[in-house]
Amino acid sequence: AHLARIDEVDGAVHAFLHVNREEALNDAAAIDERRAAGETLHALAGVPIAVKDNLATKGMPTTAASKILEGWIPPYDATVVSRLREAGLVILGKTNLDEFAMGSSTEHSAFGPSRNPWDLDRTPGGSGGGSSAAVAAFEAPLALGTDTGGSIRQPASLTGTVGVKPTYGAVSRYGALAMGSSLDQIGPAARTVLDAAMLHDVIGGYDHHDATSIKTEWASMADAARAGQRDGALEGLRIGVPKELASGDGFEAGVAESFQKSLELMRERGAVIVELETPHFEYAVAAYYLIMPAEVSSNLARYDSVRYGLRTGEGTVEQVMSATRREGFGAEVKRRILLGTYALSAGYFDAYYGSAQKVRTLVQDDFNKAFAQADVLAAPTSPTTAFRFGDKLDDPTAMYLADITTIPANLAGVPALSIPSGLSSTDGLPVGLQLMAPVREDARLYTSAAAIE
Ligand code: GLN
Repeated sequence: AHLARIDEVDGAVHAFLHVNREEALNDAAAIDERRAAGETLHALAGVPIAVKDNLATKGMPTTAASKILEGWIPPYDATVVSRLREAGLVILGKTNLDEFAMGSSTEHSAFGPSRNPWDLDRTPGGSGGGSSAAVAAFEAPLALGTDTGGSIRQPASLTGTVGVKPTYGAVSRYGALAMGSSLDQIGPAARTVLDAAMLHDVIGGYDHHDATSIKTEWASMADAARAGQRDGALEGLRIGVPKELASGDGFEAGVAESFQKSLELMRERGAVIVELETPHFEYAVAAYYLIMPAEVSSNLARYDSVRYGLRTGEGTVEQVMSATRREGFGAEVKRRILLGTYALSAGYFDAYYGSAQKVRTLVQDDFNKAFAQADVLAAPTSPTTAFRFGDKLDDPTAMYLADITTIPANLAGVPALSIPSGLSSTDGLPVGLQLMAPVREDARLYTSAAAIE
């Protein structure tokens, strides 16, 4: 049914870069047989899922929406992908993204943008616009994304779906094509909080392949979500609202209004709303756009024309390498490699990278102070609803500034998610409500989100 749906709508939506048609049908049939034979399978066995194309899938193309990896077939699965397979989920295919997950609209994909199922003239957000569009268009009930500065949450917001960035270290990054390694986190895209929580339980947990993986026994996120569905789950919950994330330049009236309605609803259900100050959040975007490109410039050095993908040009190794990188990388990726190389160079390192890391610590301090006064934090996921193609493409800074609401969570490593909070009264498009919890309190996040949903 999902393959048929993909045939029907993906010509217009373009959520997928690769559809895993035959294998998906075979895998689904194999699950049916095992179930018919009386085997007890995981609750999600047989459920189809779409996977963002910056996650390695054995035997299936993985391009990160870049020409430099066109045709590359990984010899191994990312840990999250092998966990999907073990639980019996059926991989439908690979979804579109901004090249190497750099962007907020999928317009930086080398293979053309995805379109928002709510309005095909608008972007589904990014970088994981393909995963969220697939879920919103009923092409897949579940998807995986990666979130370095908002790439799971912002597309969820713009497509009226659920998207979760777990605690940094809660889900193994082994096999994720690294963007900013100290920020990247893999997480679920889904249509409900419980669906996302069930998927989180499949992909999460310690993995020795990832040195930043947290070694701990995690609570069941599905149980946490179910706890939130009970009456009175919001009673007495302190919800902090950082005023820096709730309003200001660039926040649309329809978004602000929907956010106020969500706060009212939470209050009616017994939550206590606490206004908070997080004075350093205003510098988070600037710090992120130094730290992330610095890590990008280092991580993307591996695309050297020797080890993976594209090789073009002739002459010396250096000539082949630069010809390959010139042709293989798109403009946004090059922009970030240049920014990062500059920020890391001798003489500038302390002024840029060093200062940015100090700001990162101040943002973490703001979170610590906020969580002393509140159990979870709430904010709009994105200052705007889905924007039109081309609106921000020629102005990289405008595109970057729209990440203001999502970036603080990545800088601090805290878990954060986006749930739909209704339609904007100005344009009728979906608005997202973002919740954030302290590091390792992912279960609390699912409980509160399910209570509001
Ligand atoms: N929009 C942000 C950026 O362009 C976030 C990207 C991401 O989370 N992968 O960097």
